[in-house]
Amino acid sequence: MAIVSDSMKQDHQKTSAYLPDSAGERPASVPDAEPLSDPATPDYLLNVASSAFESPGPLFVASGLPLNSSYTFDRFIEGDCNQFARSAALAIAQQPRYTTFNPLLIYGGVGLGKTHLVQAIGNHVCEHSNYKVLYTSSDHFTSDYMQSLRTNRSNEFVAFYSDIDLLIIDDIQFFSDQEKTQEGLFHIFNILYHTGKQIVFSTDRAPQEMAGMADRLLSRFQGGLVADLQQPELETRIAILNRKANDQDISIPYACIEFIAHHVKNNVRELESALIRLLAHATLHRRDIDAQLIREVLGEMLIDTHAKPTVEEIRRITCEYLGVSEDLVLGRGRKREIVQARHVGMYFSKQLTGHSLATIGRYFGGKDHSTVIHACRGVENHMETDPNFRDTLKRIRREIEIRHR
Ligand code: ADP
Ligand code: MG
Repeated sequence: MAIVSDSMKQDHQKTSAYLPDSAGERPASVPDAEPLSDPATPDYLLNVASSAFESPGPLFVASGLPLNSSYTFDRFIEGDCNQFARSAALAIAQQPRYTTFNPLLIYGGVGLGKTHLVQAIGNHVCEHSNYKVLYTSSDHFTSDYMQSLRTNRSNEFVAFYSDIDLLIIDDIQFFSDQEKTQEGLFHIFNILYHTGKQIVFSTDRAPQEMAGMADRLLSRFQGGLVADLQQPELETRIAILNRKANDQDISIPYACIEFIAHHVKNNVRELESALIRLLAHATLHRRDIDAQLIREVLGEMLIDTHAKPTVEEIRRITCEYLGVSEDLVLGRGRKREIVQARHVGMYFSKQLTGHSLATIGRYFGGKDHSTVIHACRGVENHMETDPNFRDTLKRIRREIEIRHR
């Protein structure tokens, strides 16, 4: 019995090679991928997806979840906040099984694009190759695995997963404290890894912060490439809003886009929901999207940015406080006190202005964004180990806040 619905058949590129358990069936055996004469032929995926479920059987063993066809690389706006993770994901999507990034672990806070990015890998691979792709969530994996244990079918479960070329598991933080499932995952991980299959995970925290995860799994997670997604900077928020407004044919003045981007900054999901709410109100009340409507509709979402200092103010105050001339900080001098003032200025600019790393670099005499990252990390590490330095920074921060009011 085929359990692939007609709509799925027509839109099969939206699904990963194995479809979810909707009928409690199980594949009699996991089908071998037949190489395509034309890798772009979409029927392949449909064949795998439907034949995997066509043979009747008493019990279902495992399945994947559908991919969202709109989660593509093309729709994932790049910025300093996600550049590294996006490049790594794209490299894998273009050459699955042939990169050294195995596993790839994407981590980042809520709404920062983890699911979008890992699914973009799946969509790209489904579209451009005949690899077997399986996308699933940790919850889904856990419930299938527990079911397979209850029915003494864990061998079949493992066999099912061992046959995948690209395995993507979203939100692996939910494996914490699931000892049994972690064992199953470990087993599958090893098989896939040693047969050169690509594995991609996402999680909302860094591996070293994942409590309740077996050490041997943690070390596997960290054995490949770990790439994080940060909160988007102002320029990226503007680019995302512009793109989303365009995609949805929403007419919204640029000044309004800028205004929203200045005020809604926690994550991309909030930016999207701000646009949707605006669109709904504009349509229902037949109003234009303007500053007035934005204030009415987005009221509590708008963070007060009134008290934001500029990079120039931060630079000036930091230099004054540390007794270093601004000209020296803008230059290339490497004397210890100059470098420190430069780094502290960059650090506070990153913390307090919402500007991108590249923009901040420009304000410090045309340094590039990697210099700013390096500066911020250096300051953070220094603060952790040196209480005096931490106190100095607290005082500088207070100074910036007081003078700016
Ligand atoms: P997470 O899984 O990290 O919670 P999602 O991947 O679900 O976040 O992203 C939330 C929403 O924001 C999705 O609709 C996604 O398409 C969108 N999004 C996230 N990052 C970007 C980006 N860089 N460009 C465009 N859209 C993005
Ligand atoms: Mg997600």
